Amino acid sequence: MIENEFNITNLLYSWKVAEAKKRLEEKLRNEIYVTDLIYCPLKYKYQKLYKELALGTAFSPITLYGEIIHQGLERLLQLLFGMDNIKVEVEYEKSVRTNLDNNTYIIKGRVDAIVKDYIIEIKSSSSDKNLPHEHHITQARLYLWLSNLNKALLIYITPSRIVEFQVKGAVSDEELIKLVETVITGRPAPRYSWECRYCTYSILCPQKITSA
Ligand code: SF4
Repeated sequence: MIENEFNITNLLYSWKVAEAKKRLEEKLRNEIYVTDLIYCPLKYKYQKLYKELALGTAFSPITLYGEIIHQGLERLLQLLFGMDNIKVEVEYEKSVRTNLDNNTYIIKGRVDAIVKDYIIEIKSSSSDKNLPHEHHITQARLYLWLSNLNKALLIYITPSRIVEFQVKGAVSDEELIKLVETVITGRPAPRYSWECRYCTYSILCPQKITSA
């Protein structure tokens, strides 16, 4: 077999694993990402306890597939709207305090794109069933809270349908605090009954739902 001068699979692997490692290592004790607020709150605890398992998912083909769609559509939108009219990968953070443990938490999120006063959130999926998903609507509303904007577009790219939905209205401060408290208490776990089927930590989690 002739050796290539370079190996794209290896390049993608190194990039993805390094990025996931950096994100995990940089995550401070009091930082909560928007994605932590929309999935099973036990995952927040497990990603710190079982770092190797968390890193193990970084290079799954489905994760990479989603990443490529994200990056590809962001580049295309820059072409279509013009570089001056769109911002991509915009990071936000805000602090909140909860009475539950009297701690301050930093809520962080990275918005895929902003055009005019719209947030654009890109989703890839192998199926177009039951769109838009509830947790994606919550995610968009959390980004609206972080960015002080009021309108979001959720765009789904699936093999059988490309469709977008408008989401209006940020989560309230009360809704936000309640979500933060689920992360602190680790309850309810899972947040959705389907989550355990796709969860990396299901191999050691006492809360795993086995009948869903
Ligand atoms: S197995 Fe289920 S309950 Fe346990 S961490 Fe994963 S999603 Fe949450």
